[in-house]
Amino acid sequence: MWTVQRVEAQRTTLDFTSSGQARREVTQIFADSVLFANASQLSSWDESRVQVIVCQSCGIERCEPGGWLAPHSAGDDILFVPVFSEMLEHHPAEYAPPGYVNERGIPLFSRTFYSALRNHCASLPEAEALPPLRGADLLRCLQWEAPLQALGTFPAKVELRKDLLLAVSDGDVSDVTASLRAIIERVDVTDVISLRPAPANWMYPTLYLDGPGTREWRVLARDEEGDLHVCPAEGRIAAYGCFSS
Ligand SMILES: [Zn+2]
Repeated sequence: MWTVQRVEAQRTTLDFTSSGQARREVTQIFADSVLFANASQLSSWDESRVQVIVCQSCGIERCEPGGWLAPHSAGDDILFVPVFSEMLEHHPAEYAPPGYVNERGIPLFSRTFYSALRNHCASLPEAEALPPLRGADLLRCLQWEAPLQALGTFPAKVELRKDLLLAVSDGDVSDVTASLRAIIERVDVTDVISLRPAPANWMYPTLYLDGPGTREWRVLARDEEGDLHVCPAEGRIAAYGCFSS
């Protein structure tokens, strides 16, 4: 995931004359210098899914395919996740996420940066009013970002590919494989996932995958008792069921 560290807005003028409209002044929103939303006034931020990148030629939502994300709350964080259900129901390209999701990761905003975002997208709901992240959504996020399609390729079911894990920096590879499979099953049936700060005294094993150059994958955290948990973003662990504080 991509933990956003800076939100900035910039006024610009889009030229809609080729679609028979006038030029229009809009606000572009940048997250860590990446163009997160290209015309904040033209996206429907109050809907459950938002086309954050609208057509450059007319500014009308749905004119161009892609550019869709859906904000979800996950504890203190807000994730803008690809609209997986719509991609499953329709042509995936129609509802694809913006290109930066593949380059930088799925955007994660702390409350502070989400507030900064809301300053420029007035109809974006308060964090408390967003739908919570479900376990199935988190699994799809992990699948989307896993190196070497280690959890299968969307829209296939999320499952760890057999024999892909070569080694692990901490622990036994077959134990870690079994734990990861059990975690996937458990997260899949979890209704509400929250993300929490990753405890400093936990271990964050590196998984080594069988592929060109032996790819590294950091997706797990090991607690004091030796149990493994999902670590979907640097500095964050996913809490489901076993944590109740
Ligand atoms: Zn258009």
